[in-house]
Amino acid sequence: MCGIVGVAGAQPVVDRLVEGLKRLEYRGYDSAGLAVLEKGMIERRRAEGKIINLEAELQQAPVDGVFGIAHTRWATHGRPSTQNAHPHAAGPVAIVHNGIIENYRELRDDLIAAGHSFESETDSEVIAHSIWYEIQAGKAMKDAFFGTLQRLKGAFAVAAVYEGEPDRVYAAREGSPLVVGLAETETFIGSDALALAGWTRQVIYLEEGDWCIAQPGSVEVFDAAGVAVERDVQISNAVPGFADKGEYRHFMEKEIHEQPDAIGRTLSHYIDPETQTFSIPDIGWNTASRLALTACGTAFYAGLVGKYWFEALARIPVEADIASEFRYREPVLSPSDRALFISQSGETADTLAALRYCKAQGAQTLGVVNVPESSIARECDETAFTYAGPEIGVASTKAFTAQLTALACIAAGAARARGQIDAETEAELTKALLATPRKIGEALELESQIATIASELTTKRDVLYL
Ligand code: GLU
Repeated sequence: MCGIVGVAGAQPVVDRLVEGLKRLEYRGYDSAGLAVLEKGMIERRRAEGKIINLEAELQQAPVDGVFGIAHTRWATHGRPSTQNAHPHAAGPVAIVHNGIIENYRELRDDLIAAGHSFESETDSEVIAHSIWYEIQAGKAMKDAFFGTLQRLKGAFAVAAVYEGEPDRVYAAREGSPLVVGLAETETFIGSDALALAGWTRQVIYLEEGDWCIAQPGSVEVFDAAGVAVERDVQISNAVPGFADKGEYRHFMEKEIHEQPDAIGRTLSHYIDPETQTFSIPDIGWNTASRLALTACGTAFYAGLVGKYWFEALARIPVEADIASEFRYREPVLSPSDRALFISQSGETADTLAALRYCKAQGAQTLGVVNVPESSIARECDETAFTYAGPEIGVASTKAFTAQLTALACIAAGAARARGQIDAETEAELTKALLATPRKIGEALELESQIATIASELTTKRDVLYL
């Protein structure tokens, strides 16, 4: 769920595409690639691992062009490899994609039946094939692109180039952010304004469902219904090297909107969408007699939700404790007990002390942690990471929902290991969870209505939740 850069340029773009990708590196990624229109033909270069590997590839086999798209990938569907790295191509079409296409299997099956063959394990490749399919059926690129968007289900951002129209870059967003940067003779596309910092400060933040056609120095924007719309041009203050609030008023608001990405990324580590199965750290779930769940603050609330899932799905009795209480009350634990610790930082002192206590009692331990190099991650027998990225806002948002995501996967995986659910239920649960990034995106669409209700509520003393 990582980075997109696109340039409809007047000058050579390869170095700038790479530079834009470097500015998006902070989001994390496992491979990188780009496609440019060289003399009207798509040329792709891709590499697993760091951007430096892509640069080496480009040195070996240089490409040149003034129109291009580029991508850093953080795999959700298919392992990190050059083959799975973006851009993906079908005939004269190349695309880059961030996010998840939920219905990629159905779309891929249809396209295979129509004679298309796929070369990657990604969900993304269907986008290129679907556009190419529509063009072959006689549609103009604009209609093929829009037609494809209408068929995609999920949270995503996409950019595309087509050899038949070598003077433009197509882009769209639905659930994942996308920014258009405007300059006099060039137009840019980026996952955030930071990607474009240095090239232009004039940006348009595309709205949900928007798509656009970028040409040098101009852009046409359309809404989800395909109607041409005007979007405000704003002045971005993004400075490379600094965390950027983008279009948001504060980091907490930005992080609320990063939840579809954070959750999608976390899900991708515990769900195999091809086999529709969970794959979770094993701490001997099938022989566990009890689960001691320990955390502090917000992470403890995530644990309370997790308790419901472990009990209802996996049928494991759960005791949830606040770590500061747990460590001082000398709870009784046996080797058949399992202990689970939740902490965003992985350094919460009371949670760490509780972990050490449980280990001393011989219980197998599992940490749900956001920071890989943290003490809790290092000391637990097994760790299930959350992939929320850094959280700057004080009130937890995406770190909390990413914890819930990991807990839901672990509870479902444990249920399967204990024979409490069958393969069919497991497949249903994977599907339902993979739909959450999109559904959260839909809930975030209600922001202005929520703001109205919130301002009404500020003057009330009590609220009753049903
Ligand atoms: N789901 C796509 C993949 O696995 C895109 C991942 C991303 O957002 O980087 O290739």
